Amino acid sequence: MFIEQPPWIYRVLFPGAIWRIPSKEKCVYLTFDDGPIPRITPWVLDLLDKYQIKATFFCVGDNVRKHPEIYRMILDRGHQTGNHTFNHIQGLRFWTTNYLANIKKAGEYIQSNLYRPPHGHMRFPQLLLLRKLYKIIMWDVVTRDYSPHKTPDGVFEIVKKYTRNGSVIVFHDSLKAETNMMNSLPRSIEWLQQQGYQFKLFE
Ligand SMILES: [Zn+2]
Repeated sequence: MFIEQPPWIYRVLFPGAIWRIPSKEKCVYLTFDDGPIPRITPWVLDLLDKYQIKATFFCVGDNVRKHPEIYRMILDRGHQTGNHTFNHIQGLRFWTTNYLANIKKAGEYIQSNLYRPPHGHMRFPQLLLLRKLYKIIMWDVVTRDYSPHKTPDGVFEIVKKYTRNGSVIVFHDSLKAETNMMNSLPRSIEWLQQQGYQFKLFE
């Protein structure tokens, strides 16, 4: 089960993780998971340039290995990257040593102090170790752009309904999310800008 805005009960399971950065300013943190992917990630980068905003890309190490030139493009255009494991693995299915080794391997390709666990799952000991090494970035608004049960309209509605000051918003620069993401991201950005939200990077 996945919900668009994780409730506090879920959030307390991950002490120290960042879901939202409350602020008096109108600001959001736009994030993209699972790239870099040819055609899709460059499309996102062009769109972000068009609206003159910056975002954070949680990259899969193996994708960076395959597409280093796109990874470079993300950084060259002034965006931020984070570690999303080497093989997009779920912490609950791996022993802590193996999970951390996979993240360390991704770290050879992704120099960042940010980490986001694939599928939002980790074992508690994994979290305790990882939070010494990284800022753990979760999310406040899950657009569900990857879901075949969602339409671009539905994705846009989630952004409008759940975004608040300091929200961390997740889209995906992945093949699975392609249609929903490409058809909802431009109007989501426009709507956010009309509402006065600034787009920020993590410190
Ligand atoms: Zn992911």
